[in-house]
Amino acid sequence: MSRARVLLLNSALGPLDYRVPHGMAVEPGSIVLAPLGPRQLAGVVWEAERMPSDAEVGDNRLRNLLSVYDLPPIAAPLRRLIEWTANYYLAPPAAVLRMSLASASALEGGRTVVEYRATGVVPDRLTPQRAQALERIGERQGLVRELAAIADVTDAVIRGLVKTGAIEAVEVAVDAPFIDPDPSFAPPELSPEQREVADSIVEAVDAHRFDPMLLDGVTGSGKTEVYFEAVAAAIRAGRQSLILLPEIALTEPFLKRFEKRFGHLPVAWHSDLRQSQRRRAWRAIATGEAKVVIGARSSLFLPYRNLGLIVVDEAHETSFKQEEGVMYHARDVAVMRGHFESIPVLLASATPAIETRQMVAAGKYRELKLPGRYGPAQMPAISIINLTQDVPPKQRWIAPTLVAALQETMEKGEQSLLFLNRRGYAPLTLCRTCGHRFRCPNCTAWMVEHRLMARLACHHCGHVMPPPAACPECHEEDSLVACGPGVERIADEVAAILPDARTAVVTSDTIWSPAKAAEFVNRMEAGDIDVVIGTQLITKGYHFPNLTLVGVVDADLGLSGGDLRAAERSFQQIAQVAGRAGRGAKPGRVFLQTREPQAPVIQALVTGDADSFYEAETDSRREAGAPPFGRYAAIIVSAEKQDEAVATARLIGRSAPEVEGMMVFGPAPAPLAMLRGRHRQRLLVHARRALDVQDVIRGWLGALEWPRGVRVAVDVDPYSFM
Ligand code: ADP
Ligand code: ZN
Repeated sequence: MSRARVLLLNSALGPLDYRVPHGMAVEPGSIVLAPLGPRQLAGVVWEAERMPSDAEVGDNRLRNLLSVYDLPPIAAPLRRLIEWTANYYLAPPAAVLRMSLASASALEGGRTVVEYRATGVVPDRLTPQRAQALERIGERQGLVRELAAIADVTDAVIRGLVKTGAIEAVEVAVDAPFIDPDPSFAPPELSPEQREVADSIVEAVDAHRFDPMLLDGVTGSGKTEVYFEAVAAAIRAGRQSLILLPEIALTEPFLKRFEKRFGHLPVAWHSDLRQSQRRRAWRAIATGEAKVVIGARSSLFLPYRNLGLIVVDEAHETSFKQEEGVMYHARDVAVMRGHFESIPVLLASATPAIETRQMVAAGKYRELKLPGRYGPAQMPAISIINLTQDVPPKQRWIAPTLVAALQETMEKGEQSLLFLNRRGYAPLTLCRTCGHRFRCPNCTAWMVEHRLMARLACHHCGHVMPPPAACPECHEEDSLVACGPGVERIADEVAAILPDARTAVVTSDTIWSPAKAAEFVNRMEAGDIDVVIGTQLITKGYHFPNLTLVGVVDADLGLSGGDLRAAERSFQQIAQVAGRAGRGAKPGRVFLQTREPQAPVIQALVTGDADSFYEAETDSRREAGAPPFGRYAAIIVSAEKQDEAVATARLIGRSAPEVEGMMVFGPAPAPLAMLRGRHRQRLLVHARRALDVQDVIRGWLGALEWPRGVRVAVDVDPYSFM
């Protein structure tokens, strides 16, 4: 080959052609360095016929490729996945490729880097910033820039600490080998039901063929133990496994558990990795040295050398959907990767999504079931607290029945969990004199009070301000009131009810790193916490045998959003949080506080009749032609200037093609009409399942032009309607 088509790591560019100089050998998938103007850019050689280029250049004008990296080529199955993802989600192929070549420094050969860590020396001059830095950094290590980000201080503060000796430099070999997990280290004795399911998955791993499966097992049934057997089989067969988890906060307890079973840690991949860790992990994945990878959704696009199994744990989680950049759904892309790689894909969940259940019903996925909890543990009893009858005192949110249950649980020396999916102290702050409400200047959203951090914060753009002493509108002092509860306010209420209780607030504000998650788990396991108050972060994955009471503070909250999946999501969330109760020998109790005890979601949870609930939900989706029976694609237009956003959205609406089986709704201002200072308009495309709606949208938008400052994003199979 003397001419090569190269997909460069630049989303604004299509593929470009280069000359392959004498003595250089490339093949499709080769990772190369190419000149682009005065710059040099990495890219991957592609089959020209699969990647059309609109910039055909004659042989005599081609520039030479500069070099080929000493790395295994991106294999054909991953190249097909990149094409599929770009095509399905209407994204530039280079933007998808960027997720595969996710560590620029990893492309270079082995070397060492200098990182920094705390020494334990306390500097003579301990400014508040320095104290914050040292506290937050703790045992962590990284580049100056990384430590500064962790500590939320400037680079200069970290460098100052290096001068005082409080932080020191360490040289790190970035390619230290990983030790293989041992499949026979400490396998559990599986119950007969577990054994049967495990054997079936192991067989699929050994067969090495595409085999999508749903592992549907109640919380605490041993799904993890069971799929670990399949991971063990893949290790024995010399192949790599990928376990996708929805939340990085979950990785730390998970890593510990993995280590107990396999003797060594798996390789972790998530956004919180230091550059050196990322680089080391990427190389080990690409060479095949990393036998088991635990990762967030982005780990799905990495260039595994010989993948043998993909597990998507908590597969119903909507956080597998990426909401910016390439807007893909990791669960669905995982199945596609399994297809291209010819390997089994296991979706594990106690509350599978309707989309997944429908694939089972259609005979496309196999279903494996674990209907009971492992060992003596029983499913917890769920009861209703009708808030219209069992009324909490004024400015309180915990009903008398739940207060009594909390007291009993604490007297028995057991642990309780209160669930409220609202970060901060109060969702809204207003002035009692003039009624002024605190809004984010950049978003259509209220500023949320966070007392622990003494700030008002926007949960959409991160804008923060100190809580003002006086109202900015009427200048009245001490006139601001908090409206409604967040977890911090519930924690205050618990302190008032149970003055001796040791409480912990678990949200993304308090558990912002894997180390913080580990610290929380250790305190729970040591019995140092009586009552946990948490958001959805606490609903998944955790296993605390002494936790016997769960109270859902507002079981109606999830229904208020009103989108397509609100009822389903509400059911899943409450079922998952209820699943934290009674996971050991002691039985668990769950109380749902509600104003609508007859709502189908609440009834399904209390009676345990999930099937009828899902059937009713599925029927209503079928009737509406909603997913998975029909499909949606959202078109989101945003601009700093409102009139530009509106004009472009109208232009798109006016130009909608007439296509049989397709309808276009909107444009209309998005519910989040302003986000990060940009005005937003939405259109919703509804199409028959069989229609190639991507192709229609490509032709439709491709023919239009809009001003430079306008962004038009297409969200295929949207989960957010905001
Ligand atoms: P799930 O993933 O379905 O919620 P887990 O795999 O976390 O369930 O299992 C719940 C608890 O029961 C865990 O502590 C797990 O170690 C334990 N467990 C499950 N199966 C077994 C087994 N066969 N032998 C020993 N412990 C088990
Ligand atoms: Zn904001």
